[in-house]
Amino acid sequence: MKLTHLDERIHVLDAETDVWKVVQDIAESGVQEEAFYVCDIGDIVRKHKEWKLKMPRVEPHYAVKCNDSLNVLVVLAALGTGFDCASKGEINKVLELGVDPRRIIFANPAKPASHIRHAAALGVDTMTFDNESELHKIKSLFPAAKLVIRIRCDAAVVQCQLGMKFGCNAVTEAPHLLKVAQSLGLDVVGVSFHVGSGCGDAPAFYRAIASAKMVFDIGTSLGYNFHLLDIGGGYPGNKGSSIDKIAEVVNTALDEYFPDPELVRVIAEPGRYYVASAFVLATNIHSKREIPNGEEVAHIMYYINDGVYGSFNSLLYDHAQVTPIPLNAHLGKLVPSSVWGPTCDGLDQVVEKALLPVMPVGEWIIFEDMGAYTLPVASPFNGFPVPKVHVVADQSIWFMLKDLLPLTEDDFVMGNTPANLRIGLDVGGSGSIQDWAIPLSPRPVLCHQDLDLDSGSTLEKAIMDHSPLPTSVFRFDYVEVEPINYECY
Ligand SMILES: *Cc1c(COP(=O)(O)O)cnc(C)c1O
Repeated sequence: MKLTHLDERIHVLDAETDVWKVVQDIAESGVQEEAFYVCDIGDIVRKHKEWKLKMPRVEPHYAVKCNDSLNVLVVLAALGTGFDCASKGEINKVLELGVDPRRIIFANPAKPASHIRHAAALGVDTMTFDNESELHKIKSLFPAAKLVIRIRCDAAVVQCQLGMKFGCNAVTEAPHLLKVAQSLGLDVVGVSFHVGSGCGDAPAFYRAIASAKMVFDIGTSLGYNFHLLDIGGGYPGNKGSSIDKIAEVVNTALDEYFPDPELVRVIAEPGRYYVASAFVLATNIHSKREIPNGEEVAHIMYYINDGVYGSFNSLLYDHAQVTPIPLNAHLGKLVPSSVWGPTCDGLDQVVEKALLPVMPVGEWIIFEDMGAYTLPVASPFNGFPVPKVHVVADQSIWFMLKDLLPLTEDDFVMGNTPANLRIGLDVGGSGSIQDWAIPLSPRPVLCHQDLDLDSGSTLEKAIMDHSPLPTSVFRFDYVEVEPINYECY
């Protein structure tokens, strides 16, 4: 069995264990200090099942940009979804799993030329457009592509609007674009739209499908035979949310406008739906500041080890709202509090105001629904690492997935917690810090007087003789410990 530097295998949970128990076990191992995620593969599988039940006619093509964690893509590939890719990087990521290029839609209406060439070379031939210049580009780079015209139809209530950037007007622009495509001899096969991400206006799907039907008819009048309808993304994915309303609207509209499944294949591009609730983030309070008001504590500021430059970039970019949940119950009264990220920027605030119990430094604060538009955008700004992901699945999920390509038994490991926790490796807990210092290789001490600033050669020699410091002197986070090296210590 291969043990890698990071244990990226999916941990198969025993019957008594759920995600919260895993969070608790890792957080309270005495070994863990960094923020970490627990990703429950079972949650993704359940979402897929629900989709299949509620919109049986619509083939999901997961929008990779939402969360491109390898395990997410591997599981969705095993479940047989398609993929919505926006760039050559995303196309590569999906194809590397062995996914058939025909299962990918290149759903970016404005593509750099090199990315179109790349798609052509790899057989990813279905792609969207919403403007004339894109048609000319495709004509010269990939004339055999199967094109999907993206129209604009905005939902009235959305978490993130997209219509201002993409989608042509179905009435005033689409007819002309289709004529241009026809005159260039390009193969247009269908229509797509995206009502906006985090759609809170289910009837928007009805309006959009009706508009798409109109564009299908324009295509027919030009001699095209459209057979693909792409109803985009927008489906909610947080715990407790439901796609029931949207599914009802979509199914009704499909029955009305595209009743024959033999004639029109319907796909969608769900992103947040699949991943939002699968990821739980555990953060650690590393510092706190009490703001007094006379004798009283008026307000407590908690500083945690992930913030808006990391996972919580979603507060800025995805207009997300998050709820802090203390891992442990604390007695006593609730105090007006705020939660801040670890960087030195005043913008780095995670929760502006909340009533929270009084918590000590070292306590963990948990955030649910952290799977969508968090990790792929996070940066290690100011030297704070992006949290690692611990992937889990219960046994029934393991049985289901272990023989489905591209997963095999080797992708799984029995046990709830990371390998080094199980072998009792204690990192930064009770032991002396000396035990965990990485031995430094001997190096010359570079003092100011060593540098003869007039002499280039001495300076050069000093620089050449100076071996670099290791990037990290102490190892705190479990995932940075290689169990294989255990015996060295
Ligand atoms: C971002 C995006 C999606 C995914 O949207 P969700 O709201 O997360 O479902 C789908 N399609 C396209 C073209 C996108 O840009």
